[in-house]
Amino acid sequence: MNNDNDLHFTKEQIEKITETYSTPFHIYAEEGIRQNAKNLKTAFSSFNGFKNYFAVKACPNPYILEILKEEGMGVDCSSLPELLLAEASGFKGEEIMFTSNNTPANEFQKAAELGAIINLDDITHIPFIEEHIRIPELICFRYNPGPLRKTSEGNVIGNPEDAKYGLTRDQIFEAYKTMRDKGSKRFGLHTMVASNDLNPETFKETASMLFGLAIEIFEKLGIKIEFINLGGGIGIPYKPEQKEINLVELAEKIKAVIDEKKVFEKLPGLKIVMENGRMITGPFGYLITRAIHEKHIYKGYIGVDASMANLMRPGMYGAYHHITVLGKENAMATKTYSIVGSLCENNDMFAIQRKFPEIKIGDLLAIHNAGAHGHAMGFNYNGKLRSAELLLRKNGEVKLIRRAETEKDYFLTLDFPDSEYSGLSRD
Ligand SMILES: *Cc1c(COP(=O)(O)O)cnc(C)c1O
Repeated sequence: MNNDNDLHFTKEQIEKITETYSTPFHIYAEEGIRQNAKNLKTAFSSFNGFKNYFAVKACPNPYILEILKEEGMGVDCSSLPELLLAEASGFKGEEIMFTSNNTPANEFQKAAELGAIINLDDITHIPFIEEHIRIPELICFRYNPGPLRKTSEGNVIGNPEDAKYGLTRDQIFEAYKTMRDKGSKRFGLHTMVASNDLNPETFKETASMLFGLAIEIFEKLGIKIEFINLGGGIGIPYKPEQKEINLVELAEKIKAVIDEKKVFEKLPGLKIVMENGRMITGPFGYLITRAIHEKHIYKGYIGVDASMANLMRPGMYGAYHHITVLGKENAMATKTYSIVGSLCENNDMFAIQRKFPEIKIGDLLAIHNAGAHGHAMGFNYNGKLRSAELLLRKNGEVKLIRRAETEKDYFLTLDFPDSEYSGLSRD
């Protein structure tokens, strides 16, 4: 949501919530997430067995995962803790896609134990899983098209040729053949070449590339791909002038490629899946923070009680996040400020010299589109503590779905028994 009047709550609601939970905190609008999940499912409903495997890293909270499970999604995990979170949230077997890279053996072991779909990132992972787990019946490979594809603007992955992920075109053929010879019976094909992409043509090109490759694999090797995972990467409009991708049109574009390439004639029963993270929860989460200082030197600053430890994207990628001063949604933007956190890093800025209505100390600010890669990217550098996560229900009720860290948590992993905060002296 990239507009001041697009909020999922009122200022009064947030004021009331701050009586119980102090700022900063992340708040997610449940109904928005559910409706969005339904929209995606409906848009792709004409595709056989369509499923989105939610990329857990975007918003790794079991309450959110349970909601997405109820809406028919699977999960895409890339680490052992993410697999454990998926398991704890009730996901089983092939509802879990394990798309990792540079993967330690114990993580493959857990994925195999859960019966997850294993998506291999490299050809050398074949002997690696053979040694450490076994050759699974179902196997998927991540394709990296290298110089055959370029990325569009705003993409946070970069050009495929420079990316560390996946197998080359030549390796892909060898990999499927090897797995078949070793006893695998079912096969998937995956790529992930874009993230935060708002251009439907990107996904059409990806679909076309993968359908073409799957057909070639069948023609050359007689191996029938059972599902194609188009990856995630559907972007969200962070900036006010950007527009969201029309999912119905996107599905139609992909359908057109399928018809043109006669995909279902050549590969009957082929399933199409995706693994979006950002577009599923991103627009429905906000970082709520309060203005605590105003400073004027060479430029004007509003200091807030959140920092880049609560939302790293602006500091890390220079990403734009829309910010609404609650209660001043329709006021004229007459002042220019940078909105800054308290880290001793000058990139700890949520907005740089942006126009706002006049901000008073004590005003509440809602930082938009923080529902993906927001809380999840939190860290403790500079002694910053991760904030709470709240779930806003349709009826206005608020549930604490993760408490804020305390100073005690900061000491928890230290072997430092003399401090009253130390983990070792807790009980
Ligand atoms: C991050 C990631 C996704 C999800 O990407 P979004 O841009 O959040 O949709 C999907 N698959 C893999 C392998 C990823 O690393």
